[in-house]
Amino acid sequence: MRICKTAEEMRAACYALKQGGKRLGFVPTMGALHEGHLSLVRAARSSCDAVAASIFVNPLQFGPQEDLAKYPRSFERDSELFAKEGVELLFAPAVEEMYPTGAVTWVTVEGLSDRLDGRSRPGHFRGVATVVAKLFHIVEPDAAFFGQKDAAQVAIIRRMVRDLNFAVEVVACPIVREADGLAMSSRNVYLSPLERRQALVLHRALERVKELWEAGERDAGKLEAAGREEMEKERSVRLDYFEVVDRDSLETVEVAGGEALVAVAAYVGTTRLIDNLVLLAAGGAETNQGPSLRSG
Ligand code: AMP
Repeated sequence: MRICKTAEEMRAACYALKQGGKRLGFVPTMGALHEGHLSLVRAARSSCDAVAASIFVNPLQFGPQEDLAKYPRSFERDSELFAKEGVELLFAPAVEEMYPTGAVTWVTVEGLSDRLDGRSRPGHFRGVATVVAKLFHIVEPDAAFFGQKDAAQVAIIRRMVRDLNFAVEVVACPIVREADGLAMSSRNVYLSPLERRQALVLHRALERVKELWEAGERDAGKLEAAGREEMEKERSVRLDYFEVVDRDSLETVEVAGGEALVAVAAYVGTTRLIDNLVLLAAGGAETNQGPSLRSG
């Protein structure tokens, strides 16, 4: 696996990989890899001829009070894992390489960026959209792989790709969970053993909503209320939001029809965790290995 530190080097290496009509898949990450990240590489490998990944802890998407400085970093381990999974090219730029002095251009996906996590993390999605747009320009992948774990991010990237005519297929991959249901996240390492147990309430609340949905409940308000009630049972966990929204626009819905997104964010101690499930029209719900690798 070749590691590129500059945009110019990465651009040339990606261009070379794509020669002969090869389909290039791309997996952007912030490192501190776990099985969730690796599932994206596997999905990329299964539908592409070559895979590039990136590790960049993007300062633009962290608020001033957030965990940028202490965000887990494990470059050696991460690059070994990527190499083992068959990643050909790894882009690992320094902050100055991505944002040279005087950089003042942003990508804002209006409206969507203010919903869900965007409401409690102002500027977060502007940072995400800007870095992903830059990475897309450098790598020029045919397909890019994101985790459904960050459902709002997926909706925002899809909209950006559509609005700005990026020639990239966006593929959302199912949430990978620990055996007990906790969604894998680089931030789980912050949790104490007690918090790790308390964190399971997010999954339990989603499961409760799924049960009601499967029993025929379609009133979004009632589904949200049931989810919130479940969250309140873990008194130490502070809820940020529990919402039923349209999967694409992220706007709240009254009726949870097919493909509604049920999303939750909460603080367990000082760690902010997110999780979600998609209620599928055909019945059933997608919380784990869902059937749909929606693309486009
Ligand atoms: P991050 O390093 O947290 O920015 O995540 C990089 C990519 O991995 C994003 O597309 C995430 O949605 C995805 N990802 C993170 N956790 C999971 C998970 N548990 N299952 C599937 N994908 C994930």
